Amino acid sequence: MLDPASLAGQPHTAAADRQVIEGPSVQTTERVVELRRTIHRRPELGFEEHETQALVERELDAIGIEHRRAAGTGVVGIVRGGLPGHVAALRADMDALPVTERTGLPFASEIDGKMHACGHDAHTAMLLGAARELYAMRERLHGTVVLIFQPAEEGPGGAEPMIAQGALDDPKVEAIAMLHVDPRLAPGEISITPGPVNASTDELFVTVRGKGGHGAYPHTAVDAIPAAGAVVLALQNIAAREIDPLKSGVVTIGTIEGGYRNNVIADEVRMTGTLRAHESEVRDGLEARVRRIVENVAAGYGASAEIRLVRGYPPVINDAKLAESFAQYMRECSSLRVERLAPTMGGEDFAYFAQRVPAVHVRLGVRSEGAGSVHPGHSPLFRIDEAALPCGVQTLVAFAVAAGAGDIHIIPAIHKP
Ligand SMILES: [Zn+2]
Ligand SMILES: [Zn+2]
Repeated sequence: MLDPASLAGQPHTAAADRQVIEGPSVQTTERVVELRRTIHRRPELGFEEHETQALVERELDAIGIEHRRAAGTGVVGIVRGGLPGHVAALRADMDALPVTERTGLPFASEIDGKMHACGHDAHTAMLLGAARELYAMRERLHGTVVLIFQPAEEGPGGAEPMIAQGALDDPKVEAIAMLHVDPRLAPGEISITPGPVNASTDELFVTVRGKGGHGAYPHTAVDAIPAAGAVVLALQNIAAREIDPLKSGVVTIGTIEGGYRNNVIADEVRMTGTLRAHESEVRDGLEARVRRIVENVAAGYGASAEIRLVRGYPPVINDAKLAESFAQYMRECSSLRVERLAPTMGGEDFAYFAQRVPAVHVRLGVRSEGAGSVHPGHSPLFRIDEAALPCGVQTLVAFAVAAGAGDIHIIPAIHKP
């Protein structure tokens, strides 16, 4: 529950006078659908979002919103309100995935092997819709809204270069929100969860080395295959026996390859995997545990192991007070149903924004049997119910309005280094 005493300073607006946040105009909704389909037809991978960037810039120009480029294919737009207030940012990602679309939709991907299978087309279109609505109300808007269109969320990561190029600094952002489409919820439903919502995503590369030989004379060789098999099984012990069962951690080996043919003893097996956690303590622990198990189990088989860990995105942690207060605000001021879904072990590079300023990651319901929107993100059959698009615009506008007016929990201009 929201504790009003914990809010920094006095809200600009008494609860009774708060604006009821309506959905966007029919024209804005139609425009968002059109933009989303245009982007959907022309998916672009991370840091190749040139057409999408040009579309975003054209749309901001048409509305009358000032903008600049950042991180190569990213765009930062600014809407300046006519009334004093806070600086809120809204972030959308723009990149697609290397997936071949099989939805059969009339506006399906025209580019073989690329697809907006995670809904970033919808995220970009909804932020453009919110931009249109916010600009239209700019005279009655408190504060400033920074519109962040970032590239390469699916990798290698566009959030960090956007931040490095001042996306949060000019003007100094005090709170930030994002939407992600979610097929666990229906249109009209959103989820706002305080604390961790996404996990860290570290990559693991393991090579187990033995000594090659003839398949008929195993005693003359060191077989890397049983050593690697034992390593894979032993790694399961981490999640099963070593992590506090009330905390979250995942160790997945995703690929394994090695060997030459049926009668040759493999000298080497290579594996890759992903390590996930919500808390830095668990995250750091996973790394140490993986090293200990891989090295010692391989040694037990007379083999050796080389381990390389590449740190990926940190976990996304929603600011508890900001998330609680925004959830409460949406319950009071909008017609949307506000849920509180459990966190997932998926990753999101919004984590970097959330490390710098108080942040909230909002899940937007897009599931409907009727629209065939039942497949998970990253599936070649992934699709959304477009009835969700105005709900997303409404949520983004509400965040900007509420944060600008100080109607949700804002700590003025704190920036972590
Ligand atoms: Zn994705
Ligand atoms: Zn995504």
